Amino acid sequence: MTAVPTTVPAELEGRIVTPGDSRYRLLRSTYTTVARPAAVLLPETPEQVAAALRYARDRGLPVAVRSGGHGLSGRSSNNGGVVIDLSALNRIEVLDQRARRVRVEAGARWAQVAETLSGYGLAISSGDHGNVGVGGLATAGGVGWLVRRYGLTIDNIRAVDVVLADGTLMHADAEHEPDLFWAVRGAGAGVGIVVAFEIEALELSNVGYAQIVVETDRQGRTLTQWAEVMAEAPRELSSAVMLMPYGKSLAMSITAVVAAESARRVRPVVAPLLELGVKLLDQRSQLAPYPALVPTAHLHPNTGQQPSVTTNGLLTMSGGNARAIMEVANDRRQPLVQLRSMGGAVNDVAPEATAYPHRHQDTLVIASTFPPGDGASLDAAWRPLAGRVDGAYLNFESRPGRRAFDRVYPGATGERVRQLWQRYDPDGVFQPQLNEMGRAATS
Ligand SMILES: Cc1cc2nc3c(=O)[nH]c(=O)nc-3n(C[C@H](O)[C@H](O)[C@H](O)COP(=O)(O)OP(=O)(O)OC[C@H]3O[C@@H](n4cnc5c(N)ncnc54)[C@H](O)[C@@H]3O)c2cc1C
Repeated sequence: MTAVPTTVPAELEGRIVTPGDSRYRLLRSTYTTVARPAAVLLPETPEQVAAALRYARDRGLPVAVRSGGHGLSGRSSNNGGVVIDLSALNRIEVLDQRARRVRVEAGARWAQVAETLSGYGLAISSGDHGNVGVGGLATAGGVGWLVRRYGLTIDNIRAVDVVLADGTLMHADAEHEPDLFWAVRGAGAGVGIVVAFEIEALELSNVGYAQIVVETDRQGRTLTQWAEVMAEAPRELSSAVMLMPYGKSLAMSITAVVAAESARRVRPVVAPLLELGVKLLDQRSQLAPYPALVPTAHLHPNTGQQPSVTTNGLLTMSGGNARAIMEVANDRRQPLVQLRSMGGAVNDVAPEATAYPHRHQDTLVIASTFPPGDGASLDAAWRPLAGRVDGAYLNFESRPGRRAFDRVYPGATGERVRQLWQRYDPDGVFQPQLNEMGRAATS
């Protein structure tokens, strides 16, 4: 491991954690990956973020940027480099309750955001886990529990503050620095360190929450039925599916969330999901406060506790795609296969409006393997879907290298992403975090 001098600039005094420090054990790793950085820096202000970047660059050390540490690639830490951990940069502020305008700093966790906003009757659809950090999710997408009603988290960002690789602090919105603002919403990891986001929240206190388990047929008809139900459902309904072995077939565990304040509204919206599949195995539903979906009980330090390999693809459901999904889920290597309903408000946004261009598909398919399964076994299981998917989401890709780039940022989006990564980060300071995705793709 590289030894780094612990003498730090005055503005970072007390904010450096090196291997001898008792705090190091809980700061060195991410959720998926055990790592051994030479130093973890804990800035609390944008100026300190700039100083942390200078500290790393002056010493020629690789930089990893961490908000919540839940990134699947594990690249929010490194071995022998510097981690800029934003967990102390975590303020959450309601700027204008009537306009539902909220400012969240990158190091806050979504559980804390939900908890704070619930006091104002507001909510932001983020993801399904409270320990995920604001920064990693809101620079790539944000497929949350209310995705069809709210769109992606990035679709509701109205302004950002970013520290560039050279330490400059920039404010970007639709009028100021529109290129930077465009890139942050989907490809933010390659342009700088986003320190804060201004986001338009939803007025929402409670949600309907239903858990439904059905037995599927073997040919995938249950999946096409699910997609048909979702296509016809009001946007208040979003759902996530987990496919699990069940006898000779599979069971489909559906979590349905309805953006509605009354149980009377929830029941008819969820009812068509109860008709899916060969047999209804279980069902329950309740009204719950929104923070119960991303609870503070999820908060925990990341110590590499969940090693895994994950890939994903966006698609429009069809008979052929449903059969391919069933094939992946039934593979002898037993990957965990999950589906997310997309569409709705996500597809109101023009493909070129943000650096997340996937605006016509209705389904996100995610597959993961856990040790002893590895990347090769996941790729082998994923083969039936590999040629069928039509795009991918950066944040459910644990190997964001060259091959992933064209699926995540296809066509003109990819061209613009490469140009803007090059413009805002000419020395490639943030590229190691992306496994040199853009740079490799240009070579
Ligand atoms: C259990 C679990 C559940 C999940 N559920 C969902 C879900 O429902 N929906 C969804 O959309 N995603 C979900 N994800 C994926 C999640 O969006 C990503 O893992 C995300 O990157 C995590 O954010 P983080 O801040 O915790 O990540 P970190 O590990 O801190 O960062 C990941 C990467 O993001 C970049 N980054 C982080 N902070 C910044 C910043 N401030 N500025 C610029 N770049 C930055 C860096 O490249 C970094 O390497 C889930 C992940 C896990 C592990």
